[in-house]
Order: sequence, then structure tokens, then C-alpha cells
Amino acid sequence: MCEQKAEVNNHLFIHCKAASKLWNMFLCILGVSWVMPKTTMELLNSWTQIGNRGKSEDWWKTIPACIWWTLWKERNARCFEGQNDSFRR
Ligand SMILES: [Zn+2]
Repeated sequence: MCEQKAEVNNHLFIHCKAASKLWNMFLCILGVSWVMPKTTMELLNSWTQIGNRGKSEDWWKTIPACIWWTLWKERNARCFEGQNDSFRR
């Protein structure tokens, strides 16, 4: 997606510039200070251990999927529709 690193899932969904930007935005909104894990598996395993979500456990669990779906759509727009940076629109 960024054309700077190999497109492996850990890069695309966590460490790519667009992914970092999106994760940081969500973590900031949610008031969570967190060091991003190296892998998507580590992220999923530790995601339920962080944050102050009260009774909204189900809602909390959907956040990684929502972020990854958004990144996947962005990646496909860039790869197949020639859109360069639809996050800015
Ligand atoms: Zn990248």
C-alpha cells in the first residue's frame, strides 16, 4: 500500500504508515496508551486486555476488525482503482 515495504499482513494491518495513522487515531479517541504489538496475532491476543471499556466488551472486540476492514478497502482502492490516498477524501 505504501510502496515502501513488502505487503505482509503485519505490515499492512499494523505498521504501514496508513495503518499506524488509523490505529493512533483510534487509540487517541479511546484514550488508550499502548505500544503496538509486532504481529496481528499478538494484537488480537492483547487487545482484550487493554482499555477502559466497562460493559462494552462486544463493541471493543470489533475495533480491530473495523480498522482492518478500512485498511483492506484502502489497499484495494490503491491497487485496483488507482486511487492514491482515499483517506484524505
Ligand atoms: Zn506500507
